[in-house]
Amino acid sequence: MRDFSGSHHYLEHMLILGTDKYPGVDDYGTYLSENGGYNNAYTDADHTNYYFEVNHDAFAGAIDRLSQLFIAPLFTQDYAEREVNAVNSELQKNLEQDNWRAWRVQNTLARPGHPAGRFTIGSSESLADIDRQELLDFHDRYYSANQMQLCLLGTAPLDSMETWTRRYFGPIENKNRPTLHFPADYLPPKQTFRLTQIEPIKQLRTLELEFSLPAFLDHYGSKPLSLIGSLIGHEGKGSLLSLLKEEDLATALGAGRGGPMFGLSPDYGKFSITVDLTPKGLEEYRRVARLCLSYIGMLRQSPYPAYHFQEEKAVAALNEIYADRGEGGGYARTLAWRLSAYPMEVVERVQFIYAREDSGAYREFLSHLRPDNMMATLVAKGLEAHTCKNESCIL
Ligand SMILES: [Zn+2]
Repeated sequence: MRDFSGSHHYLEHMLILGTDKYPGVDDYGTYLSENGGYNNAYTDADHTNYYFEVNHDAFAGAIDRLSQLFIAPLFTQDYAEREVNAVNSELQKNLEQDNWRAWRVQNTLARPGHPAGRFTIGSSESLADIDRQELLDFHDRYYSANQMQLCLLGTAPLDSMETWTRRYFGPIENKNRPTLHFPADYLPPKQTFRLTQIEPIKQLRTLELEFSLPAFLDHYGSKPLSLIGSLIGHEGKGSLLSLLKEEDLATALGAGRGGPMFGLSPDYGKFSITVDLTPKGLEEYRRVARLCLSYIGMLRQSPYPAYHFQEEKAVAALNEIYADRGEGGGYARTLAWRLSAYPMEVVERVQFIYAREDSGAYREFLSHLRPDNMMATLVAKGLEAHTCKNESCIL
């Protein structure tokens, strides 16, 4: 199976078009919309997530229809071309969005074969000769009960939900497929300045510094990246942003962890600093990058910020009581993904857990924010689009 063609996204489209039990091509979607709901799905670098929302009294019927996708999908050839076109129009739509364009250019620089570099969406060209057998093979290879996570969110009694789960999802075959793992460092080390320039559609002027990170989700109890992100992204006196503003180099700055486009991978992640530049900052973007790195250097020299951990912990405790956690299909989708990454008992409140200080983990992640593990992306009108391959280019 081609891994870089968007075929897993195409499969996501084809999967919902009828099953042995409910062969109507629109059955699943029609059932949901007739019962006040909708269905959707997304495909990330390392997983696909299917979700729906529906009126409570139609929940069991919707579960039945969803589960059939993983038991006996038809992959009707009649709709193959229509769905290639649907995938291609998603691509065309994304090509109009500056953040997607930048992401796509950046991920071509990932280590070859790493999912961080996947062309997840697909196009008419990349999917030109894909056939039904290929979809069936892919479904057989990756869609196995032991690699699935399920979240049901509803008002029905737990006993009913358990009964439905056993009845409808129980027949999904467990093929004991292995869990896929990927190397943490998706950026190959590079001693010189790795710079990509992009000309945007909108009037933007930004510099993004991205660093490849090892797995960090296991550190949810000490949140080293939240600490690092909020220190670098701080906007008050003595902050990196206040210095950049003072020198008329930037107007805003954000910093934090990230991962594959929508979620976060259990095997690898990224950290990025995004700076909105002034015209002077654009001219002096190398200096802006150096100031960011020297701020990181200062954090490295400083003691572990225990006071900051306690502050974030206090804010998280308040948020756990008052913050909106989301609802419906969107919330179920988030929880289902978290089940693949966190222990079951913490998935509903992982963002609020500040269980212990861990200065070792904090220092370990700070140590990855360095120039040879960095990809810089400069976005501004009038820039010549290019990726610096020049081995003598230095910061
Ligand atoms: Zn799609």
